[in-house]
Amino acid sequence: MTRIAIEHGLMLTMDPADRIIEDSRVVIEGRDIVAVGTCSDDPGPPCDLVIDATGRIVLPGLVNSHTHLCMAFGRTIGPERRLLDWLDLIMPMMAAMDAEALYVAELLGCVENIKNGNTSLVENIFMPPQATADPEDSAFRALRDSGIRGTVARATEARSFDPRFCETTAEQAERVGRLAARWHGGEDGRLRLSIGPLLPWVVDETGFRETRRIARDNGLALHMHVAESPEFNNMIARHFGRAIRQVELLDEVGCLGPDVQAIACSDVSPREIELLAQSGTAVLFDPPTRLFWGTGFPPIRDFLTAGITCGLATNGAAANCGQDLFESMKYACATAKTAANDPRALTAARALRMATVEGARAIGLPETGSIEVGKRADLITVEARQPHLAPLFDPEKALVYSARGADVRDAVIDGRVVMRDRKVLTVDETALLAEVDRVARRCAASAGITLPEARLMGMSNHA
Ligand SMILES: [Zn+2]
Repeated sequence: MTRIAIEHGLMLTMDPADRIIEDSRVVIEGRDIVAVGTCSDDPGPPCDLVIDATGRIVLPGLVNSHTHLCMAFGRTIGPERRLLDWLDLIMPMMAAMDAEALYVAELLGCVENIKNGNTSLVENIFMPPQATADPEDSAFRALRDSGIRGTVARATEARSFDPRFCETTAEQAERVGRLAARWHGGEDGRLRLSIGPLLPWVVDETGFRETRRIARDNGLALHMHVAESPEFNNMIARHFGRAIRQVELLDEVGCLGPDVQAIACSDVSPREIELLAQSGTAVLFDPPTRLFWGTGFPPIRDFLTAGITCGLATNGAAANCGQDLFESMKYACATAKTAANDPRALTAARALRMATVEGARAIGLPETGSIEVGKRADLITVEARQPHLAPLFDPEKALVYSARGADVRDAVIDGRVVMRDRKVLTVDETALLAEVDRVARRCAASAGITLPEARLMGMSNHA
């Protein structure tokens, strides 16, 4: 069994005592963390690999609890539109993606997440079903090949959506059963499947109940967008033909609970926050995307005060143009402070926990998210010897308010070194970027999307 040590870093464990260890050593055997302490402790048996983290902060890998890698080719296309107009613009591009294109987009997203220090992500995928193969296979293959820990949250649509994407309940059940058998728990638990409607009005009440049943039958969590904006709650009232808000609706159709993950929650009433808290539903916040769309942002402190388990997310690169969870931490603090008019509404220490151990619990992966003996080894190192992080008086505040994804140097996922000194070891990044340029242009052309001329010299190898 491979034995790896990371030594001499300043370690933020995110354990229950929030221990910070100077001159630290963490030892990994196989997939697991087997020792956490200082370099003056008994080193134990020799290691196959020792990573010197002098001058670096060692912390649990970040948990990106909601993204859409399948939309990665839509980056910079339309971020100055309203959410639903933007979706209309991107959909033809997605419909034009075949299995090869989807794999390339997903792999791009995985590599981008790894380079930002996200060792775990939830990929909320929605693609037109195909007769011959399940599009989700491309996502799972990319997660598997990149080495990242990932859940594919398969979205379903049954009405009021592009008909190419819609399916019946029977088709949903069949496809979910097939994917669960093929992938759920794969790679020793590194790969997971979850399901849920993409938007609240694309299924009716029966559709919600049936989706819940299909999730239970297959032992899967529910993952869905919830109350993204006041406009969304108005749309729900219109589609369901009565004055009901989304969280109230979810309560009515049995779609709240500890195995339910609600992304966004920008427009929820105090009563709805109570419903989320009482049911143990997890909430996932994506502040940069909310700000990007100008659709309002949630009063995060109210959720924390209610005792709700909260994670952080970037949402898709087509929405906020990046996958940097450091941005999400910073914006989570900024929006929480603004909503509450209180600079302590969300502290950096809590934001870091939301991005690691609490986020891991929110998406049903309590075996990850902190550096503790017995947990799965998902860790990153961050280079602290940089002007924008000096002087390093308070490592938690430095990480949340001053650091960025590009400061991450190494990533270990499930005990495997996936990035070393910013070089991703599982994927040929140069070849991938050339492939992305070629494939994304092909998809845009067949979707009839006019792209501006490439402005980066030397990147246009598509000619
Ligand atoms: Zn989303």
